[in-house]
Amino acid sequence: MIKLKDILTEAKGDCYQAAGRLIMNFMGENKAKLVHGMVNGQGSLKGIRFGQAWVEYGSKILDHSNGKKQELPKKLYYAMGDINPRECKYYTGTKAAKWMLKSKHWGPWQMSGNPIKLQNEDIPDTKGELGKKKIRIQNIDLDKIFMKGRKKKRTTDEGMMVKLKDVLLEGRMLSVFDFDDTLAKSDSWIYVTIDGKEVDKLDPGEFAVYKPKDGEEFDFRDFDRAIQNPKIIKRNVDLLRKQLKKGGRKVTILTARRLGAPINQFFKTIGIHPYVVALGSNDPQKKADWIEAEILKGYDPIYFMDDSSKNIKAVNKLKKKYPDVKLVTKLVK
Ligand SMILES: [Mg+2]
Repeated sequence: MIKLKDILTEAKGDCYQAAGRLIMNFMGENKAKLVHGMVNGQGSLKGIRFGQAWVEYGSKILDHSNGKKQELPKKLYYAMGDINPRECKYYTGTKAAKWMLKSKHWGPWQMSGNPIKLQNEDIPDTKGELGKKKIRIQNIDLDKIFMKGRKKKRTTDEGMMVKLKDVLLEGRMLSVFDFDDTLAKSDSWIYVTIDGKEVDKLDPGEFAVYKPKDGEEFDFRDFDRAIQNPKIIKRNVDLLRKQLKKGGRKVTILTARRLGAPINQFFKTIGIHPYVVALGSNDPQKKADWIEAEILKGYDPIYFMDDSSKNIKAVNKLKKKYPDVKLVTKLVK
């Protein structure tokens, strides 16, 4: 037997967060609404009125606060809590997601939810007794909320999702730098072999535009070793430093190399520690695939810098596929 009295007595802790999580399960179902409203307390909270969050589904109230899963008639809940619909804010899943992504907290968003004295009784000064407001939404949850919205985009309500994306523009920026001949040149060669015999060697710049002939294979052994005689390309390294310093964005070094360690080691010597992704493949499509996965995670805008025109070409194809995403590519010469 559910005791409504308990819900209104224990209206503390995590009600905004619990209701916010709950409504995400009803994305696209307009019958479900997240509600932020004012309720009258019971028991130890008798005599005060305070902000509370719950989910309504038709004539039912779903309350998952304080780790419980309760379901009860809406009429009863409204009567016991003396809830006035005109004081309530109602949100569909989509609308709620928009507020979450924008505010980065679970609510309340459009009301204070501050406790109000009903008669002459004192408001309990133990603030912990009442629902914690504006609990920060963790990034991992923001990603989930965004993805739930994004999945929906493919079926309905496109306009809303475009807006969702706009909301995410800040703090979802991604900067991607190639390493070899973009940030530094070094004495690393790519050895051209035919039937296991070395016939030529290319520097990364030459390799970037090289058209392989039949029977040729490539040996990248120099790229698995500590970087030899590195010479930084100052203009681009300065840009990287600036990106790292600014914060609020993801900065990644995306390299065809098989091992990231030599690059990490090199960056250490110049006092920066960017995140390095080693693809282990010179196929330009691999870089494009990696960037596409970031687009699907919601990154936008994305900046990509590389000295290989083949890589730039592969990544540029994503512009057509995702016309809504701001993707800026720069060929380093
Ligand atoms: Mg390169």
